[in-house]
Amino acid sequence: NAKEKGKNSYKFYEKEMEQRIKDSLKLERDLRQAIKDEEFELFYQPLFDLEKNKVKTVEALIRWKKPGAGYVSPAEFLPFAEKTGLITEIGRWVFKEACRQKKQWLARGYNGFSIAINISAKELDDAKFFDSLVKEINNNNLDSSNLEVEITESDVMENMDENIKVLKELRELGVKVSLDDFGTGYSSLTYLRKMPIDNIKIDRSFIANILSDGKEKRILSSIIELSRVIGLNITVEGIENEAQLEFVRDKGCDRAQGYLLARPAPAEELENYLEGN
Ligand code: C2E
Ligand code: MG
Ligand code: MG
Ligand code: MG
Repeated sequence: NAKEKGKNSYKFYEKEMEQRIKDSLKLERDLRQAIKDEEFELFYQPLFDLEKNKVKTVEALIRWKKPGAGYVSPAEFLPFAEKTGLITEIGRWVFKEACRQKKQWLARGYNGFSIAINISAKELDDAKFFDSLVKEINNNNLDSSNLEVEITESDVMENMDENIKVLKELRELGVKVSLDDFGTGYSSLTYLRKMPIDNIKIDRSFIANILSDGKEKRILSSIIELSRVIGLNITVEGIENEAQLEFVRDKGCDRAQGYLLARPAPAEELENYLEGN
C-alpha cells in the first residue's frame, strides 16, 4: 500500500544520502592525502597564434594522478575542492609547478611563449594569493609578462568588485588576464567593457555547431566582432576540425586552441610544439 511504499522510498532515500556522505568524506580524505603527496600533474595544451603560426602560449591543465585510478580530470574533483576550500592549496601547487616548468623550459632553450594558468574565484578569496604568486614568479626569475591567468566569466561575476581588484593588481604587475569560457556567464556588455582583462577565450559551445547552423555562425561572428571593438585579444577554444579553424582564421581571431591542433599533454611532449620559437 501507499504507506508501505512511502516508507520504503524513505528508507531508500536515507541509504542513498548515507552513501553520498560516505563518498564525499572519502573524496575529501583522498584529496587531502593527494595534496600532501603531490599526486597532481600539469598537462599543457598550446594556444596557436594564427598570424605567426606559432605557439605563443601554453595552458596548464591539472590532472590528479590517483594511485590505481589513472588520471582523474579536473571536472571530477575541482568543484569539490572549491566547496571544501582545498582549492587554495591545490592552486598554490599549480602555480608553483607551472613556474618551475616555465623556468625549466627556459633553461632548455625554449622561450618566446607564455604560460597560462587557470584560477577559480575561490583562490582569489585567499588574502595570500597575490603574494604567493609573486613569490613564485620571483623565485624562478620569471618575467611576469610571460604569465597569463585564466578565470571563467562566471567566476569573475560572483564577488565582482573584490575579484576585479585582484585582477587589476595582477595586470599592474604585467601578468595578462584572460576571461575564460566567455559567453556562458551572462556578463553584460557594460561589465565586459570595464573588466581589467587582456584576452577573451570564447567558450567552445559557440564554435561547436557553426557548420550546420547559420545562426550559430552569426552569433560567433558577432561575439568576435564585439571583442575586437572592445580591444581584446581573441582566442577561440574547442577547435576540432579544419573548417572551424578556417572560420576563426578568416574572422581574424588571434589564437586558436583545440583537439585538432593539439591535445593537452605532459610537459615533455610539448617540446615538439615549442621548437623554433
Ligand atoms: P578550461 O580552462 O576552459 O580548459 C579547456 C578544457 O577543454 C580542458 O579540459 C581541455 O582539455 C578541453 N579541451 C581543449 N580542447 C578541446 C576540444 O577541442 N574539444 C573539447 N571537447 N574539449 C577541449 P580539462 O583539462 O578537463 O579542464 C576542465 C576545466 O577545469 C578547465 O576548463 C578549467 O576551468 C578547469 N581547470 C583545469 N586545470 C585547472 C587548474 O589548475 N586550476 C583551476 N582552478 N582550474 C583548472
Ligand atoms: Mg582555461
Ligand atoms: Mg576555457
Ligand atoms: Mg571551457
